[in-house]
Amino acid sequence: MLDVCLLGSGGMMPLPYRWLTALMTRYNGSSLLIDCGEGTQIAIKEKGWSFKPIDVICFTHFHGDHISGLPGLLLTMGNAERTEPLTLIGPRGLERVVNALRVIAPELPFPIEFRELTKPQEEISINGYRIRAFRVNHNVTCYGYSIEIDRAGKFQLDRALELNIPKQFWNRLQKGETVEDGDTVYTPDLVMGAPRKGIKVVYCTDTRPTPSIVENAKGADLFICEGMYGEKDKQAKAVEHKHMTFYEAARLAKEAEVGELWLTHYSPSLTRPEEFMDEVRRIFPRAKAGKDRKSAELNFEDDEK
Ligand SMILES: [Zn+2]
Ligand SMILES: [Zn+2]
Repeated sequence: MLDVCLLGSGGMMPLPYRWLTALMTRYNGSSLLIDCGEGTQIAIKEKGWSFKPIDVICFTHFHGDHISGLPGLLLTMGNAERTEPLTLIGPRGLERVVNALRVIAPELPFPIEFRELTKPQEEISINGYRIRAFRVNHNVTCYGYSIEIDRAGKFQLDRALELNIPKQFWNRLQKGETVEDGDTVYTPDLVMGAPRKGIKVVYCTDTRPTPSIVENAKGADLFICEGMYGEKDKQAKAVEHKHMTFYEAARLAKEAEVGELWLTHYSPSLTRPEEFMDEVRRIFPRAKAGKDRKSAELNFEDDEK
């Protein structure tokens, strides 16, 4: 099961009842965060989730509303006596930006591992998360993220019996290990069926619509996308500032055939996103206005095959 929480839904600045947009996920005891603007710590506290198991933080880009909360979060994680390494993923320049912010958080009891993105698309696997970063189109280098939990095929008991594979090796084969027994080598593909559908969440903010978004969001169970403006007359503004309207986000969701769309990164001037949702749902019926702490538990679908 993948637990997902949209910690905040605001863009540019935090408001009294709307924290800056950030996504947190929990899977198998390991938490992942995408973006960390001012106030993200409070949003995590409000949700009631813990700071200590955050093993990965992905940054979309280096605008303040997406990273200025990092030094405080690092200090809190340090105070929680974390000693395991923390992986930070983000555009080129990540280490320089983070080290500049760390002038006010110089001593931490855990090491930081930097993964700077240089290619249009990159994949990194950590703690069962398959993270794919893909470049989008903002006024600085910006990436969207696809977070996938893969699911292996089913163990084929009849095959294991047919091939006379000793029972003591079954468990290891099921975990994807190759087992050597004297001169005989057993590989997982001998007894495992085809991989089954996993879980996929895609998060992207601060961009114009791009083909890379459609491609990477394809078939996602949940697509969380920026919608800076709901008002139709703000289309030109969206183009100028390299953001999106609700309707553009809905068209991406439709094209990518996602399960559900949550909008986020609202302009501070947009106080009632719900007002525009009927119109948005005419384009993509499974669209929801994201709001702070909107959460979902995503499970593997039951598979009888
Ligand atoms: Zn932003
Ligand atoms: Zn930005």
